[in-house]
Amino acid sequence: MASRQLKDAHALVTGGGSGIGAAIARALAAEGARLTLVGRTRGPLEETANALRTGYGADVHVAIADVSDREAVDTACAAARAQHGPIGILINNAGIAPSAPFASVTAEAWRKTIGVNLDALFHCTQSALPDLLAAPAGRIVTVASTAGVKGYAYTAPYVASKHGAIGLTRALAAEYARTALTVNAVCPGFSDTGIVDTAVARIQTATGRSADQAKAELTRFNPQRRLIEPAEVAEAVAWLCRPSSRSITGQTIMVAGGEVM
Ligand code: NAP
Repeated sequence: MASRQLKDAHALVTGGGSGIGAAIARALAAEGARLTLVGRTRGPLEETANALRTGYGADVHVAIADVSDREAVDTACAAARAQHGPIGILINNAGIAPSAPFASVTAEAWRKTIGVNLDALFHCTQSALPDLLAAPAGRIVTVASTAGVKGYAYTAPYVASKHGAIGLTRALAAEYARTALTVNAVCPGFSDTGIVDTAVARIQTATGRSADQAKAELTRFNPQRRLIEPAEVAEAVAWLCRPSSRSITGQTIMVAGGEVM
């Protein structure tokens, strides 16, 4: 049974319509939070919102925005505030994970990945900051990755963006340590979501391997030899969001089956 520690909180989750973001939204709804789900595509966001209303009686608002666009983020945060009051919890989850040999990465592809995975953290955090600092237990949790603390081949922009996400987490935790705001990152290993489905398809196309063989290429990074479930990542995020987690800040929590010790 969830603790209901978040029953007075308004949480904004980017990329909340699918995968890990939708699982985080479920975990926060189970703890009683009001939610704003942000993404570019209305269908999955509304589907997740409806499931949360039905399953948890949650109060859920949907905001359409490209998180790499500051103006769109400011508009989404203003609409979220108007609907549910100040944003006390920010979950920076939206992300993309393209892969290519470094030599063939275009400047445009580089910029797009940094835009969604890193610039967006700057936009969302600055836009919500006055609310987060005024909240009795403000929380920022960024869904980074094991790629934020180690390198993987063929995904340099992603690795660089996720290292940046962890750097920003540490900088903000230091800067706001004297306030009630905590800032942490959760780092999943390869997880069972659309991002991994796409990666498996790419490996199949590039190598001619079967889907199982391609999936094994990814699960071999995890000492437990499996994909992480989105709900496992969401558990860690919900724990960090609770008021009782106030002493945990500036941390990078691995949810990766022991891949990074
Ligand atoms: P996912 O299901 O593809 O979710 C990504 C979400 O981000 C989607 O809901 C997508 O919605 C949203 N998004 C993408 N670009 C956006 C943009 N420009 N503006 C607003 N929203 C945007 O994949 P996931 O695995 O759950 O990914 C969630 C996070 O986990 C990402 O940050 C990813 O890097 C991280 N992660 C995943 C894994 C893994 O193996 N799956 C491992 C480590 C870390 P729209 O397309 O509708 O905008």
